[in-house]
Amino acid sequence: MTKIGLEIHCQLTKLESKLFCSCKANYREFEPNHNICPVCMGLPGSLPRLNQKAVESATSIALALTCDTPDKIAFFRKNYFYPDLPKNFQITQLNVYGDMSVGGEGYVNIEDKKIKIRRIQLEEDPGRIIYEGASERTKITLVDYNRAGTPLVEIVTDPDFESPRQVRVFLNILSDLLENLGVAEPGLEGAMRADGNVSIEGGNKVEIKNIGSFHDLEKALHFEITRQQSLSERDIEIAQETRHWDDRRKITVSSRSKEEDQDYRYFLENDIPWVKIDHNTRDRLKENMPESISSKKERYIEKFNIAPQVADIIASDKYYSKLFESAYSDHNAKDIANLITTDVIGFIDTKEKQENSKITSKHLSDLVDAINSKTITRNSAKVALQEIMKSGKDTKEVLQDMDLGQVSDSSEIDTIISQIFEEEKQAVIDAKERPETVNFLVGKVMQKTKGKADPVKTLELIKLKLNQ
Ligand SMILES: [Zn+2]
Repeated sequence: MTKIGLEIHCQLTKLESKLFCSCKANYREFEPNHNICPVCMGLPGSLPRLNQKAVESATSIALALTCDTPDKIAFFRKNYFYPDLPKNFQITQLNVYGDMSVGGEGYVNIEDKKIKIRRIQLEEDPGRIIYEGASERTKITLVDYNRAGTPLVEIVTDPDFESPRQVRVFLNILSDLLENLGVAEPGLEGAMRADGNVSIEGGNKVEIKNIGSFHDLEKALHFEITRQQSLSERDIEIAQETRHWDDRRKITVSSRSKEEDQDYRYFLENDIPWVKIDHNTRDRLKENMPESISSKKERYIEKFNIAPQVADIIASDKYYSKLFESAYSDHNAKDIANLITTDVIGFIDTKEKQENSKITSKHLSDLVDAINSKTITRNSAKVALQEIMKSGKDTKEVLQDMDLGQVSDSSEIDTIISQIFEEEKQAVIDAKERPETVNFLVGKVMQKTKGKADPVKTLELIKLKLNQ
C-alpha cells in the first residue's frame, strides 16, 4: 500500500512585515538584498520582535483546519548551516512537552476521505539561492536575502494519502481555503511549496523536497512510487533519504540522507518570550473568519438549487463568488451561475485577467435577462461578454453596437436555411438518412447569422424542411 504525507509551506503574503523585523513581507518587488536589516540578517546584537498579526493569521489557519489551538506558544531555534540561512538557525516551532505550535490535530475532508493535519507551525522563510544556468554545472551561485524572515506557515499532514491524485485534490482544497481566509495568495510564485514523503508496503520513507508547483509534485510522487516499486520487485531495500525533483530530467535524485530531529539541535528561542493566545483572541478570530467554502457551496445548492459541481467552482473562487453573490436575484441565480461557469470562466481564467476584467454583476444579470427574454442567443451573449470585459460598456449598448439582437423571425431564418440547403446538398441527404447529423446544418445557419439565429426555431424549421 502506498502512503503519502505532506509538509506544505505557505507564506502569509497578506502581512505587511516580516516575522521578526519591519522589513516588507512582500519581498518580490525589491532588488536583490534590498529588503534586509540587522535582524533578518542575524547580525550580532540584533533582537527579533514577533509580528503579532502573523500569530493571528497562523491561528486563523489552525482554526479553519479544525485544529486544537493552545493557550500559549513558544518558538525554537532549528540549527543548520546553509548559505540561504544568514543566522545559521531558523526560528520555528516544535511540538514537544505538550502542544506548543499554533495548532495540531486538525483535519480536511477530501471526497470521502479524512486527511489528518498533524501540526501547524509558524516559522520564518530562509533567503533564496539562485544558480546561474543549470544547478549541476554552474560555477556561480547567488544569494538573495530579501525573503529571509518572511512569515511562513508549515502544515504537516499524516501519511493519509494513497495516491498522487488525492494529494492534488487536497492541495486544491487547501489553497482555496487559505485564499478564502484572506491570509495568503497561493497563486504567487513561490508562495506555496510542498514536500512529499512516500513509502510503499511499509518500507522506508523517502522525502521529496521543496517542489514549487502542485503539478510537479504530482509528477514527482508518481515517479517516486514507480521507482520504489521497481526496487522492491528486485528485493532491493529502499533507503531512507531525501531526494529532490529534477524538473529538467523529470526524475527524483538523491540529495542527502535524511536528517533526524536531533541533528538540528533544537532549543528554545530565548529572545522571544512565550506568546499567550487567550480565549478572546480566538473568539475574535473565529467571528471575523469569512464564510467557509464548503458552507458557501451548501448555501448555493440549498438556496438556489444549483448543481453541486457548479456551486463548487463558484464557491471555491473569491472572484467568481463575489460576482455571483452581487449578481443574483432569486429568479435568475441558476442562470447567472451557469453563465459564470460556462462562459465567464473561459475568458477570465487567471488572477491577472480577473483583475483587469471590467465585467460587473450588473452586466451578468442583464445578459441573463437578455438571453431569457430571447433578445439574444447564448452565442451572442458570449460575443458580448468578450467586449464587455474589455470596455466595461453597458450591456444594452454593446448588444446594439455589435448588432447582436436575436433573429427569431421565421421567414428570415427560413431564407437562410434555403441558402444552406443549396450549398450543402450532401449534408441534407445525410440528415435525411441519419437525423443525428442535423446539427451540422444548424451550425451552418449559426455561422451565417454570426450566432444570432434562435437555435430552437432554427432546428424546428430545418426539421420541417427535411420532411418536405
Ligand atoms: Zn529585516
